Amino acid sequence: MSGRAGKIQTVLGHVDPTELGFTQTHEHILVSLIPGPLRKDYVGEPITLENVGHLRRNWLANPDNLNLTSEVEAIEELKRFKDSGGGTIVDLSVIDIGRDPEGLARISRAVDVHIVMGTGYYTAGFHPPEIESLSEEAIADIFVNEFRNGVGDTGIKPGIIGEIGMDWPLYEGEAKVLRAAAMAQAEVGAALNIHPGRDSAAPLDAIRIVKEAGGDPERTVMSHIERTLFSLDDILELAETGCYLEFDLFAQECSYYPIADIDMPNDATRVDYLIGLIERGYRDKLLVSLDICHKTQLARYGGDGYSHILENVLPIMGRKHMNKDDIEALTVRNPARMLALM
Ligand SMILES: [Zn+2]
Repeated sequence: MSGRAGKIQTVLGHVDPTELGFTQTHEHILVSLIPGPLRKDYVGEPITLENVGHLRRNWLANPDNLNLTSEVEAIEELKRFKDSGGGTIVDLSVIDIGRDPEGLARISRAVDVHIVMGTGYYTAGFHPPEIESLSEEAIADIFVNEFRNGVGDTGIKPGIIGEIGMDWPLYEGEAKVLRAAAMAQAEVGAALNIHPGRDSAAPLDAIRIVKEAGGDPERTVMSHIERTLFSLDDILELAETGCYLEFDLFAQECSYYPIADIDMPNDATRVDYLIGLIERGYRDKLLVSLDICHKTQLARYGGDGYSHILENVLPIMGRKHMNKDDIEALTVRNPARMLALM
């Protein structure tokens, strides 16, 4: 790894960590999350002012909402991020959910935003059939090969492993992919991002698997904290493992959550959690993002868009007296440290 040690591997090549600037560590620019049975024949119903309210609460109701495939729209949305002061987006669309390395490279050039791409597999419902028969070593080789040689013949390399998808209870294929991801992490020295199952036991269980497979909890990012853990004590227990805690559902301000029996917090509550964790010494393990993966999250379709944290969350942080240095840690220094290859 000597040549790239300490560097960030973006879709346009290596950059120095100091060049990233304001970074959102869990987004999707190009992605297709249409569930398997619907994927083939689906014809989209346009999103309109009449149905956008319903779709914001029930994002699965129109599968076309789960398709972000337009580079033109992506460029338009990311320009606003750039104009608001944004520097880098981590796109965690993994293999077989619409990942498009060349599309990301074109978008990165067009908007002058760094893009770090992921590799891995999402939840079992999105695994290609061959996952069942491949060994964990063979799956780890797929990830390592992409890191070293690029995706297919594009020469475009991922810069992070994940988001690795987990259900709860865990499918055997998901545990195998996570072990493979941890093995690949040990080999290439990259960060590993986990999408945990929707149960409070899921994050610690995932960290246990990472450790057993030789991965590094300190370089592991636990996504979606705020739809998985609902007390500061539970979050602190996870923090003790050394992993990054990613609050990546900012802008989801509705308490209703269509796919689990939970009360979703809002942005102000998320900031309160962050402040509590900073007070307890975990400032350098916190990350923030929006996890944009539906059309209705884009400005064009009535959503808040990629600039929401810059435009709307930083003022909440300021109002609650988070200081500038803490905000810079969460949005600039922590992402850069997390993404730098070992
Ligand atoms: Zn995601």
